[in-house]
Amino acid sequence: MKTIGLIGGMSWESTANYYRYINEGVKQRLGGLHSAKLALKSVDFAPIAELQVQGEWQRMAQILGKEAQDLEHAGADFILIGTNTMHLVFDEVASHVKVPLVHIADAVGEQLQKNGVNKVGLLGTKFTMEQPFYKNRLRDLYGIDVLVPDSSDKNTVHDVIYNELCVGKIRANSKQAYIEIIDRLAVQGAQAVILGCTEIALLVNKGDTTLPLYDTTTVHAERAVELCLK
Ligand code: GLU
Repeated sequence: MKTIGLIGGMSWESTANYYRYINEGVKQRLGGLHSAKLALKSVDFAPIAELQVQGEWQRMAQILGKEAQDLEHAGADFILIGTNTMHLVFDEVASHVKVPLVHIADAVGEQLQKNGVNKVGLLGTKFTMEQPFYKNRLRDLYGIDVLVPDSSDKNTVHDVIYNELCVGKIRANSKQAYIEIIDRLAVQGAQAVILGCTEIALLVNKGDTTLPLYDTTTVHAERAVELCLK
């Protein structure tokens, strides 16, 4: 079995689920007492979130690059960045290590393509919804058109992530707001919606809407399980 490296803590609420899903995946496939070989470097999210607001992406790339190096030295055979947003600096982080990084948008893009989805809604932080790094990768590598909410809905989605989900608050009115936003994406033509922030599935999930939802935490963790057992 290969060793998975995980850069976590952004936020730890979702990292806890990565750890659970990866171990459940390995147990499901191998049975018995089997569990994942995994090295975790979990950062303090507060200074990172501050740097995001300041737009200090190169500084964050350096920080995460160092975390990736530590994981490589700890024996990781490949590395996951456990947040969609920080994939904005994926290439820079990848350049710090020899082992491969597994891109979260590739994991979800492959699933969407396999399921014949070519127009998808995207919920995430404003960085993920507005900047090209995520949408363009899905378009260019997987031929998928990405729809994002209007500006007021984007603010709602973003604020709920940082003010509630990343600090473990799950509120019924925020859940309702997300469901309405997903419904509006469906009206725009989305065949499915990417929960493109690793905390969103703490709030909404399958069963809350008729539209298929792709939880990036689950999909990324599943990809890691496949790779570690290959
Ligand atoms: N975990 C979130 C994501 O997947 C947001 C936190 C962050 O900015 O990294 O984008």
